Amino acid sequence: MSNIEIATVEEAGFCFGVRRALQLAEQATVEFPELCCLGQLIHNRQVVESLEQRGMRVVDDISEVQSGAAALVRAHGAGPSVYEQARDRDVHLIDATCPFVRRVQEAAAQFVSEGYQVLVLGERDHPEARAIVEHAGGRALIVESADEADSIDLANHVAVVCQTTQRMENLRELVIRILPRIGDLRLVNTICDATSKRQEASLEVARDADLMIVIGGYNSANTNRLAQICRAEGTTTYHIETAEELRKEWLDGVCRVGLTAGASTPTEAMDGVRERIEQLCDEDSGG
Ligand code: SF4
Repeated sequence: MSNIEIATVEEAGFCFGVRRALQLAEQATVEFPELCCLGQLIHNRQVVESLEQRGMRVVDDISEVQSGAAALVRAHGAGPSVYEQARDRDVHLIDATCPFVRRVQEAAAQFVSEGYQVLVLGERDHPEARAIVEHAGGRALIVESADEADSIDLANHVAVVCQTTQRMENLRELVIRILPRIGDLRLVNTICDATSKRQEASLEVARDADLMIVIGGYNSANTNRLAQICRAEGTTTYHIETAEELRKEWLDGVCRVGLTAGASTPTEAMDGVRERIEQLCDEDSGG
């Protein structure tokens, strides 16, 4: 165990949109002592707790924010009604909507204004998909799969946009399925490649590793997905949130361990796990 090689996945941890949201949140805790966040800023308990220690309060709805206070819109974005309520109630909004998400909202609204029937390929209960529909004036339809589209009455002019975390296979399948049924299709590929790049890079490391450690919130869908992908490759995989959860016996007989992390995991969490593995190796070699 003393000679374990540690391979860290380079394309891992915070994506652009999460990093940006966090920077805005950190600045805002300094400027606004009464800061609220509209929902969990990111799916990482440790990061959210550290912001709460600086005074940020997580609320479910803008109605819970006091007039004159500040509220943060997270990277998933929010519907126009949130911006309207903020204006009406004098709530100062700090908008951390990821620019890639904003692009989907704008595309959906534009297509509706041009008279297209708009389909949003996404998860019906996901806040990002719901906000996209709201930006389209409530006149876009969420479809979760090509199968689902089969049961929808399609207009002649259809436009498709996607929730940013959708998989390309789903989009391809949807387009193939609806094309024969319509006269005109407009499509904006709004899939963000941050997720797929993390998955591909993690898979590559998992192929040559005896053990994969996936770091990130247990409530983070993209982190759970990384762990599933590594396991599906046949590599023993553990999903942890912090270095303290790492168990010495996991490293028995391991020559190469791979480290990866979800898009809402800070670099320090990965560094902490790496240091913990090095420490366990040193202890084992009597160092
Ligand atoms: S995954 Fe992509 S769209 Fe989502 S927050 Fe990160 S950069 Fe933005």
